[in-house]
Amino acid sequence: MSNLVAIVGRPNVGKSTLFNRLTKSRRAIVTEEAGTTRDRQYGKVEWNGREFSLIDTGGWVQTSTDVFEEEIKRQVLIAMEEADLLLFMVDILSGITDLDMEIANMLRRVSKPLILVSNKADNFELNPQAAEFYKFGLGEPFVISAVNGTGTGDLLDEIMSQLHDQQAEIVEENIPRFAVVGRPNAGKSSLVNVLMGEERTLVTDIPGTTRDSIYSRYNKFEHDFYLVDTAGIRKKSKVVEDLEYYSVVRAIRAIENSDVCILMIDATRGIESQDLNIFSLIQKNKKGMVACVNKWDLIEDKSSKDIKQIESSIRERLSPFVDFPIIFTSAITKQRIFKVIETADAVYHNKTRRVSTHDLNDFFLPLIENYPPPALKGKYIKIKYVTQLPDTQVPTFVFFANLPQYVKDPYLRFLENKLRSKWNFSGTPVQLFMRQK
Ligand code: GDP
Ligand code: GDP
Repeated sequence: MSNLVAIVGRPNVGKSTLFNRLTKSRRAIVTEEAGTTRDRQYGKVEWNGREFSLIDTGGWVQTSTDVFEEEIKRQVLIAMEEADLLLFMVDILSGITDLDMEIANMLRRVSKPLILVSNKADNFELNPQAAEFYKFGLGEPFVISAVNGTGTGDLLDEIMSQLHDQQAEIVEENIPRFAVVGRPNAGKSSLVNVLMGEERTLVTDIPGTTRDSIYSRYNKFEHDFYLVDTAGIRKKSKVVEDLEYYSVVRAIRAIENSDVCILMIDATRGIESQDLNIFSLIQKNKKGMVACVNKWDLIEDKSSKDIKQIESSIRERLSPFVDFPIIFTSAITKQRIFKVIETADAVYHNKTRRVSTHDLNDFFLPLIENYPPPALKGKYIKIKYVTQLPDTQVPTFVFFANLPQYVKDPYLRFLENKLRSKWNFSGTPVQLFMRQK
C-alpha cells in the first residue's frame, strides 16, 4: 500500500515549488499532460528505491474567492484526515503570520506524523531565524530551500524514516480489485449499495476510529472480486462533500489500491473538469478502467444515434486513451449493474493478458515490413523481434530494432492501435518500447 504525504500551508510559502522539485523526475515520464494544473496537485516521489504519493493542497485553492481562508482551512482538515504524513510549510523570510498560527492550531490536534518545514532558507545565515517556529509547538523546524534544493535530500530521508511501510492487507492474488470512483453525486454510493445490498450502508465509520479494512471480498453475479472501500462513499462529511479537492484526495487511495476503476459519470452533466482529474489519476496509476454513464434513467432520448454520440464525445474528451468500455447504467432502476462487474472483470483479464512471442512476431513482422518506420537521416530502421515482458503492471511490449532511438511516437501509436485491433486490451493501458537489438 502506498503512502500519502500532503503539503499544507498558507499561499506563497513555496508549496508548489517543493512539490515540483520532489516530483520532477517522475513527471518527466508522464508526458501526456505536462504543464496542466492537474500535475501540480498529485505526483509520485521516489527516493532510495521507495515511493510515496505527494499532494500539494495549494493546487486547489481559488485565490479569487472571499472564502479563501476558510477554504485553506478545509483543505488542511481533509489533509489531516486523509494523509499519512503532513508537511507543514512556513516561510523563513516572512516569519509567522496569523494564518500560519491558525493552521498550526489545527495541526496540533493531529496524531499523524508531521514535519514542520521552514522554507526559503536560501543561505545558511538565515537558518537561526527558524527558531521562531518553535512557537507553533510542533517540534523542530526542518530548514530547506525549495528553490535551490538545500535540505531537500535530508527532508526526504526524514519523510521516509517517519513513513512506516503500511501494512499490506492480505488479499488473494489473481482476484481483481475494483474501485468505484467519480465526482460527488455521480452515484457512487448508490451503485455500491446496489451491488452490495443495503446493509453495507449501515457500516459507518466513527470519525477518529481507525480505518477499517479497505478491501471487501464479494462473490456476486458469478464473479469473485474485491471492492476497494472508498471511505468517502460511506462516510460523507457534510462540510466538504462538494469540494473537488475532497473527492480527488479520496479517490487517490482507492485508485492506488485497485486494479480496475469504475469511473462514474453523471449522464445529466457529461464530462467536466472533475471527471478529467479523476481520469488523469487513473491514467497516472496505470489502472484499468470502465466508464459508467450513470443516471441513464433520466435521459429521455435514448436512440442509438445518441448513444453513439455520447460514447464518441466521452472518448474524445479522454483521448488519446480511447480503448475502454462504456456502460450506460442506472443505480436507481438497477439497469446494467451486473454488466458493470462483468465488464470490470473482463478489463482485469485484458490487463493481465499475455500474448506469446510467436503470435506477436507472426502478426507484427509482416505488418512492419509493409509499413516500416519512416527512415530518419537517410537511415533505415529495422525492427527484428517483438516480445511481451513478463510480470509487469500493465501489458508491456518490447520491439528490438537496429536504431530504436529513431522510432518516433506516431509510429509507436500506430503499433499500439494495431496491437489493440488484434488482441483485446480494452480498458487497460499498454506500454510499447523500442530497444537496441
Ligand atoms: P505556494 O503558494 O505555497 O505553492 O508557493 P509557491 O511555490 O508558488 O512559491 C511562492 C513564491 O515563493 C514563488 O515566487 C517562489 O519562487 C518563491 N519560493 C518558493 N520557494 C522558495 C525558496 O526556497 N526560496 C526563495 N527565495 N523563494 C522561494
Ligand atoms: P455519490 O456522491 O457519487 O456517492 O452519489 P450518490 O450515490 O450519493 O447519488 C447522488 C444522488 O443521485 C442521490 O440523490 C441518488 O439518489 C441519485 N442517483 C444516483 N444514481 C442515480 C441513477 O442512476 N438515477 C437517478 N435518477 N438518480 C441517481
